[in-house]
Amino acid sequence: EKLALEAYRGKETVTADGEKKLLVANIGNPDDANVASEHDCEGVGLFRSEFLFMDAKELPSEDEQFAAYQKVALRMKDQPVIIRTLDVGGDKEIPYLHLVKEENPFMGFRAVRYCLNNPDQYKVQLTALLRASAFGDIKIMVPLVTNIDEIRQVKALVKECMADLDARGVSYNKDIEVGTMIETPAASLIADDLAAECDFFSIGTNDLIGYTMCADRGNDKVGYLYEVYQPAVLRSLKRIIEEGNKAGIMVGMCGEAAADPLLIPVLLSFGLGEFSVSAPSILRTRRIISEWSKADADALTEKVMQLKTATEVKAMLQAAVR
Ligand code: PEP
Ligand code: MG
Repeated sequence: EKLALEAYRGKETVTADGEKKLLVANIGNPDDANVASEHDCEGVGLFRSEFLFMDAKELPSEDEQFAAYQKVALRMKDQPVIIRTLDVGGDKEIPYLHLVKEENPFMGFRAVRYCLNNPDQYKVQLTALLRASAFGDIKIMVPLVTNIDEIRQVKALVKECMADLDARGVSYNKDIEVGTMIETPAASLIADDLAAECDFFSIGTNDLIGYTMCADRGNDKVGYLYEVYQPAVLRSLKRIIEEGNKAGIMVGMCGEAAADPLLIPVLLSFGLGEFSVSAPSILRTRRIISEWSKADADALTEKVMQLKTATEVKAMLQAAVR
């Protein structure tokens, strides 16, 4: 299989009927960008910035952050690089932030909630990202958004940081894109309103599945509910992608489901434009995308969306992909 996949290296990512898709990589640190490039990514769809914070003993400075973001920007040249701002809390712990232990961390003080509550700290990251945007096609992505106020507040902070950089005489991309992860049921339900405020969406299925199904993937007793094939999850994905496309913004997916061979035809039918996957999944994902025409993906998806259970959905997709 590995040899056959090599045929897809250096090729564009296109469906069987020639529709262009963007196939990018999820990375966790700047060195991963080299690995992703070696696997022939077309950019970075998710740079989890947490590593910068988790591997440190104290908050990384603006210069330290800038150096890391700039490194990825330079490595990717003119390819897009989506950098997610700090996604602390939930399953991601950073000891020196001294966050109070919570009964229910996944429903608690995390990600954009923490950042907006610490605007001076958040502005250090946003400023570093802006500075790096002078060296490549960097885009800013906000995690765990549940309402419009959050994205508006982030955009207001970005404006403040831009004014500060102007005063310092430092250059940056004045048209930098600010997008949101769609990884909560709330964001899915207001996707139309969010699309009006954002430059792009990236669907975080890892969290979206858990929050939609009220099932922790790490909990064996309820793990059977944690499935992207659940009709509730599929309807949510359809809605997000359609609303984003209607608004004319790019809709991508950076959760693990973007690389799921069974799900790819469904995502193509819904109209997903960008697939962000781990480096080793890149060539295989390109091959699978190339195997589906819009008409075939639509015919399968129309049947899939009428099914009532995840078991039936999975069985139908397995039969179609085999
Ligand atoms: C997601 O939730 O799908 C996602 C990509 O983010 P993380 O896995 O880092 O929570
Ligand atoms: Mg997430």
